[in-house]
Amino acid sequence: MQGLMMNRPLSIIDILTYAAEAHPAEGIVSARTEGDIHRETYPEALARVSQLAHALAALGIGEGDRVATLAWNGYRHFELYYAISGIGAVCHTINPRLAAEQMIYIVNHAEDRVLFTDITFVPILEALRPHLPEALRIVVMTDRAHMPDSPLDLLCYEELLDGQPTDYPWPELDENTASALCYTSGTTGNPKGALYSHRSTVLHSFTVAVSLLQKLGLGKRILPVVPLFHVNAWGLPYMAPMTGATLVMPGAHLDGKSLYDLIEAERVEFAWGVPSVWMGLLAEIKARGRNPEALTDMLVGGAAPPRSMIAAFEERGICVNHAWGMTEMSPIGTHGTQPPAVEALPLEQKLDIKQRAGRRAFGVELKITDPEGTRMPHDGEATGELFVRGNTIASAYFNDAAASAKSFDAEGWFATGDVASISPEGYLTIRDRTKDLIKSGGEWISSIDLENAVVSHPAVAACAAVAVPHPKWGERPVLIAVASGEARPTLDEICDHVKEHFAKWQMPDDVVWVDALPMTATGKISKLTLRGTLGDYVHPDLR
Ligand code: ADP
Repeated sequence: MQGLMMNRPLSIIDILTYAAEAHPAEGIVSARTEGDIHRETYPEALARVSQLAHALAALGIGEGDRVATLAWNGYRHFELYYAISGIGAVCHTINPRLAAEQMIYIVNHAEDRVLFTDITFVPILEALRPHLPEALRIVVMTDRAHMPDSPLDLLCYEELLDGQPTDYPWPELDENTASALCYTSGTTGNPKGALYSHRSTVLHSFTVAVSLLQKLGLGKRILPVVPLFHVNAWGLPYMAPMTGATLVMPGAHLDGKSLYDLIEAERVEFAWGVPSVWMGLLAEIKARGRNPEALTDMLVGGAAPPRSMIAAFEERGICVNHAWGMTEMSPIGTHGTQPPAVEALPLEQKLDIKQRAGRRAFGVELKITDPEGTRMPHDGEATGELFVRGNTIASAYFNDAAASAKSFDAEGWFATGDVASISPEGYLTIRDRTKDLIKSGGEWISSIDLENAVVSHPAVAACAAVAVPHPKWGERPVLIAVASGEARPTLDEICDHVKEHFAKWQMPDDVVWVDALPMTATGKISKLTLRGTLGDYVHPDLR
């Protein structure tokens, strides 16, 4: 028997039209590339989104067309998210930190028709222009007064909006219509595109809202340092209007001092970003000797946050919510909020839990399997490859049959490429990426665990553990480390510091000091680049 309920298509623009009616005082605060602070409410945003939709139509953009963005977190980027998907086109966010050849690849692969850029990235586009589709139109996200001098044929965002009607007859789209396209940063091979739909995006927004229930509430002020140019800023541009939160957009300045000043001035309560960003903020908090006044919570994910970092924030009264996810998952997979009983635990016990990557979010199923595909128990010990399933998870890559064929198991679950264990209480622990595990004498060593332990040494600012070939053991762990000051602890001193957490055979064999670690386009340590630079490194046993 079928239920007797209406069946309305899930639609992204409905989130904003809802916010304009139900949360009219909330909206978006942006540190602009023009240098000032800009404020708009959700009703104002909706009016401009409608103008932008008319402008897109005037540029000939229609259903299914891909429209690219190359921009920081700001209100115009937010407007593009809604206007592009609202008319049935696809918002293709480009990560400006990608290598030039990857950017060229994805703009051509996506067949973008128009590209919206912040002023900052015009020089990049000047260099790339000969390699981009000839018909591509480029729009600079600013007003006439701030248009850059450039040999490129550039359109001006505010001029496109000027005089357009402030309402739009939004089409009723099939909820499975594609809405946005985001490419993974392509640590191996070409980038692969996750193509989100209206349905997956609205469901994801509910998922994130439910996951963070106890941290939200009307009028919350949330700072996404996580970029709109990658993985939909973890769904926040959709979840904030849905829940009546205000977004505080940081623009181009993501260093500790700029973030501290913005958080303080705009009374941000909840800040979202990857660990490397929070290391910067933490240094600033230590330097000033106090927290930004209103900040109570942070959401951290995208890479494993060091235990010492979680401890430093918790000791200062800022609650760390540690979650996990990935581009192909829209991206949130787990929720990092803890029940009050966990928050009340003594620090070390609380850290044992917060170091794990949270528990699965509603709508996301998790399984771990051995190499034969047999399910492994959720006993906290068994470690296997992590597979996921759900309505917010990609079912294939965009126009990439070869990559799609390799990424799903026989039951249709998506292979995350992460190696994990799951505790009986449901906590996920990411042990490593499959390709970053260190296999010594047939046994696995988690690079994440090693790195985490080593950075808790006061003289170590950052560290990567990588596998180096070894004639007897296959691979052995070697540390690449950045010192926090003048001191360079010896390998023995480092091993002494971490020995209670590891078996003897899991200890690193060498430490190589460098000035800085290479980062990926998404703010994580680039093991791929490191392995490349270590090309002629020889294990101590072979010297
Ligand atoms: P990329 O940065 O490679 O483009 P994503 O942003 O989609 O891709 O990153 C997803 C990957 O980041 C995950 O598969 C996982 O390896 C890693 N990751 C995300 N969150 C965490 C976490 N909390 N702990 C450890 N690793 C994480």
